[in-house]
Amino acid sequence: MFEKELFLIPAQKPFIIPLFLPHAGCRHHCIFCNQNTLHPKSGKKNISTLRNEMDRWLAFPRDLQRPVELAFFGGSFLGLPEKDINACIELVKDIPDAGLRFSTRPDTVSRASLELLSASGLFMTAELGIQSLDERVLRLSARGHGVDEVVEAFKELRQAGISVGAQMMTGLPGASGSSDLDTAERLVSLGPDFARVAPTLVLKGSGLEKLFVRGKYRPMEFSEAVERTAAYVNILEKGGVPVLRIGLQTDAHLEESLLTGPHHPSMGEWVRGRILGDEVLEAFGRMEGNHIKKSLRIRVSLNLRSRMQGMGKSNFLRFERAFFPAPFSIVTEKDQEPDFWVIEYA
Ligand code: SF4
Repeated sequence: MFEKELFLIPAQKPFIIPLFLPHAGCRHHCIFCNQNTLHPKSGKKNISTLRNEMDRWLAFPRDLQRPVELAFFGGSFLGLPEKDINACIELVKDIPDAGLRFSTRPDTVSRASLELLSASGLFMTAELGIQSLDERVLRLSARGHGVDEVVEAFKELRQAGISVGAQMMTGLPGASGSSDLDTAERLVSLGPDFARVAPTLVLKGSGLEKLFVRGKYRPMEFSEAVERTAAYVNILEKGGVPVLRIGLQTDAHLEESLLTGPHHPSMGEWVRGRILGDEVLEAFGRMEGNHIKKSLRIRVSLNLRSRMQGMGKSNFLRFERAFFPAPFSIVTEKDQEPDFWVIEYA
């Protein structure tokens, strides 16, 4: 039996200690994934190597008021053998008031796996690897489960009082702009507490590499990835699902394992700039008056100034095209609220 009230809920953004267990507990090797190249030094771990890693993180200078969460990423936590799950729980309990965070596949969530967690009394966050809510895309991505398992996993985790985040991807094999948007809408109806969204990349050693080499998979062009991911993120956030991360975190291992695909270290800023640009163009479309002759002014807070221009001045160029031949200016207003902007005739 699970009762939400039993769990301690942290009030502040947690200090997350990430421990990577590449492919541990994975029942299938998904076509886009290769954790071994993303975390090459992680290899096989036992509890004492995990403890050493944890202790190194705890020794970093940090705000001691922030709650700590010990996070098990890179595999399917609830697919681990029972004794390993218990050992990880004990590790979390060694840190006073710490919470447990883990990534897992939907088909590893079961009453049996959750019963293992329920007695711990820990605050828990599950990052559910969903990737898509399109049956065909799941099949072509060799996920080994369908949409029903995702819906069921959400229900079980919620009933267990566990906070649920969703990891999603755009541009998977078989996905289109419209199927990605359907997935975003369906995801909103599942009501995750947060999401992470990443465009699909072709990693060396992954199944996708083989498809790519045979000409059977084409990754999204960078501009397409920004556009599709922006539309996706917009649906999630308008539906009340905060998106905590866009794109994969850049590090030397990702650079090394990336064969091709739409990656940029500031993918989040590209996408957020695109969303803001879309909003401005929508507002422009709703403006009354003679668009052709009048000059335009976009007033914007200091906080949003560079996003308004867009990465590589991408929004600036979009505005130039949309407003042509009307001249326009972007005026920064230092005293405005951080999210302030308005478009008006000058
Ligand atoms: S995506 Fe998740 S479930 Fe699939 S192989 Fe990678 S770590 Fe395992």
